[in-house]
Amino acid sequence: MYNDFQKHLTAELQAIKDAGLYKEERVITSAQKADITVGKGDKVLNFCANNYLGLANSPELIEAAKKALDTHGYGMASVRFICGTGDLQKKLEEKISEFFGTEDTILYTSCFDANGGVFEPLLDENDAIISDSLNHASIIDGVRLCKAQRYRYANANMEELENCLKTAQAQRHRLIVTDGVFSMDGNVCPLDKIYELASKYNAMVMVDESHSAGVVGRTGRGTTEQFNLRGKIEILTGTLGKAFGGAVGGFVTGKKEIVAMLRQRSRPYLFSNSIPPMVAAAGVRMFEMMSETNALQDKLHSNTDYFVKKMKAAGFDIKPTQSAICAVMLYDAPLSQKFAARLQDEGIYVTGFYYPVVPKGQARIRVQVSAGHEVEHLDKCVEAFTKIGKELGVLK
Ligand SMILES: *Cc1c(COP(=O)(O)O)cnc(C)c1O
Repeated sequence: MYNDFQKHLTAELQAIKDAGLYKEERVITSAQKADITVGKGDKVLNFCANNYLGLANSPELIEAAKKALDTHGYGMASVRFICGTGDLQKKLEEKISEFFGTEDTILYTSCFDANGGVFEPLLDENDAIISDSLNHASIIDGVRLCKAQRYRYANANMEELENCLKTAQAQRHRLIVTDGVFSMDGNVCPLDKIYELASKYNAMVMVDESHSAGVVGRTGRGTTEQFNLRGKIEILTGTLGKAFGGAVGGFVTGKKEIVAMLRQRSRPYLFSNSIPPMVAAAGVRMFEMMSETNALQDKLHSNTDYFVKKMKAAGFDIKPTQSAICAVMLYDAPLSQKFAARLQDEGIYVTGFYYPVVPKGQARIRVQVSAGHEVEHLDKCVEAFTKIGKELGVLK
């Protein structure tokens, strides 16, 4: 029975390999942090995790998680509406609302689920979703599951957005959807202009804060802090899997009626397990830490500025960034792979990206800066980039 299908898959897999697109996974044997151990024991500095605040191995979060294991056990073994709602999950939802200055919050197992479940219960064929062309895969999938009319505008292109909004006056309700930070370039969405257009054309706005929460804005409250729009955006989504500890979990936060409707009708919420108590407890502790001190954001911002300045001074072509993502442009796909491999020999762990992840001829190495990095880590990274850059003829 399996023979034909096996042949089919083997051929497809070989085609992926032949195209040079086969993804190999590198094995990390230490905890996730700035200096990690990979493969057979190589020590490398990690510059490709979403661990923006360095919290993935935080002693405080580990302690909070351990305590919750003792008081609340291991798992919930239920969806939220049957018997999967614990005091810790409720408390985490409150903390998220406080952090973003929103009315209410609903937790999901991931932001992929949050984005997958947010559109379909709220909008139907009478409505319009207007989406940035570089939005995350989970937004694209969520929109596909919803019957609303679809519009798409080129990344951060406000003229195209305005045209979409004009056409979408034919629909009942309009929702503009954008990533807060676009993960391949590190640019922040122009939320001030988006909000202005939304007001002018009677549209709501949704921002996915996955790469911006904890990072963007002086205190890391995300794009609504950066653009002084706290409490004004109808829907924010985000993840606990990046800056906020890096474990697992996602959320929708925003207007209370929206959250209330999602609790009634959002399928990944209704039909998937509750996040475990230890993750909720560590999340609560994490948001407490965020309100006690701004030290991590300050360190992240100064690390990012330092790194970008040094890389530019070394002669690299760096995409303008307003986040902790720093795209080192190499343009050539094979070069990006060779460069990343040579960096790993030098103890710097990064990933090279090329088409179709980024546009053709736009290959790059994405460096992700963290508050977990020390200045000597950043210096080592710039030194290694400079050495390999000269070796491969990228730098003169
Ligand atoms: C990472 C990411 C997600 C997915 O988050 P998970 O919690 O890991 O599922 C969703 N949206 C954006 C923009 C992301 O960067």
